[in-house]
Amino acid sequence: MADVNWAGNLAYAAERILRPRTLDEVREMVAAAPKIKALGTRHCFNDIADFDGGVQIDIGDVEVPIEIDAESATVTVSGATRYGELAPVLHGRGFALPNLASLPHCTIAGSVATGTHGSGRRNQGLASAVSALELVTADGELRRLAKGDKDFAGAVVNVGALGVVTRMTLDLVPAFEVRQNVFDALPWSALFDHFDEIEDAAYSVSMFTNWANDSVDLAWLKSTGDQRTELFGARPADGPRHPAHAAGLPADNCTEQLGVPGPWHERLPHFKLGFTPSAGDELQSEYFVPYRHATAAFEALRGLGDRIAPLVLCSEIRAIAADDQWLSPAQGGDRVALHFTWHQRQAEVEALLPVIEERLAPFGVRAHWGKLFHHRPSDGSWPMLGAFRELRDRLDPDGVFRSPYVARYVGR
Ligand SMILES: Cc1cc2nc3c(=O)[nH]c(=O)nc-3n(C[C@H](O)[C@H](O)[C@H](O)COP(=O)(O)OP(=O)(O)OC[C@H]3O[C@@H](n4cnc5c(N)ncnc54)[C@H](O)[C@@H]3O)c2cc1C
Repeated sequence: MADVNWAGNLAYAAERILRPRTLDEVREMVAAAPKIKALGTRHCFNDIADFDGGVQIDIGDVEVPIEIDAESATVTVSGATRYGELAPVLHGRGFALPNLASLPHCTIAGSVATGTHGSGRRNQGLASAVSALELVTADGELRRLAKGDKDFAGAVVNVGALGVVTRMTLDLVPAFEVRQNVFDALPWSALFDHFDEIEDAAYSVSMFTNWANDSVDLAWLKSTGDQRTELFGARPADGPRHPAHAAGLPADNCTEQLGVPGPWHERLPHFKLGFTPSAGDELQSEYFVPYRHATAAFEALRGLGDRIAPLVLCSEIRAIAADDQWLSPAQGGDRVALHFTWHQRQAEVEALLPVIEERLAPFGVRAHWGKLFHHRPSDGSWPMLGAFRELRDRLDPDGVFRSPYVARYVGR
């Protein structure tokens, strides 16, 4: 059977997967391959990690120790390290990462390559914690780029187009505790009238809806300080909730809720490491609009509620703080993220995506690089795409990493 991605909606077309055991082997394999693309834990929903006509390389067997430097509050890890493996080690040494995505299962290099993010109006995407990276480029050379270097802001969110990231250094913060409180049935009027206050109500806030129900199904608050006991007319949940609670999914694979304090890495992700995250049998899309357009974007999606609801398990609203990484969804300004966990009905989902994108187009919408989308990214919505293309052409002049996805969305 062909190798498939996590969701099983894509059989990789690459000829085979190379599995080097040492850094030298990575360099030799890259230098020898005419066409190659790095592969992480395969959690993307499109062909971003594939290379039709080339090979994939998985560096998970290259042994790289986790090196914590307590003095500079940094950690250096393999690009193939998964957040869920790293987090308990950091916590044991009194450190934390400022934020995590909804699942801890993905590799660090794969996550930051696609601009993966968590939630929190004052929390940046995961790539913002990266302060240096080591990259095997098309010629087999190992290059190091660090914060402050000219190309650094273009190199972290890289859609795998610049080379194979072998090691990364991440900035750390002191370990912290988080409590999760979930509220049922937030009135839509509360979301429209008090969006800023809701976003400010906790360290990380997620809201779940199908865009058609009478109220927002869940508001999920992850607090580092005082916990809210009320939220603009929503009811405190009487038990643990799955993000797709309204669709009937049980909360067995979810991290502990009901206000029980716990370490950051056991509360910031919605899903536990040892379990299948989310629903498993699903597809995903996600769009980003400037934070100031949040409520107008909610109106637009509510207008499509009767078309979205039959296809969606749940949709998640999050906020992301601005950063300066060229291909980051939050490059240049705070964003609201509008995520969709779809039933695995790909043809119907793909027929609806252009409609959603048209409704969000007036807000300068961007799409998550690793999820399903329809539109071609333009230099209008991604102002640094041209600079990234120039960097890519310098590091990979012969197109060794220029997979069909990279050619389609970054350019030839
Ligand atoms: C259940 C579920 C929940 C999710 N939740 C979130 C969420 O909360 N927030 C969010 O933003 N996203 C989320 N995602 C999307 C996910 O974070 C991204 O798809 C992420 O990129 C997956 O990482 P991966 O290791 O599986 O990478 P892959 O899918 O294997 O690869 C992704 C990209 O990274 C590149 N890459 C991988 N390894 C390297 C390397 N060593 N060097 C260079 N490039 C490399 C690949 O070439 C490819 O371009 C979710 C996905 C799933 C399935």
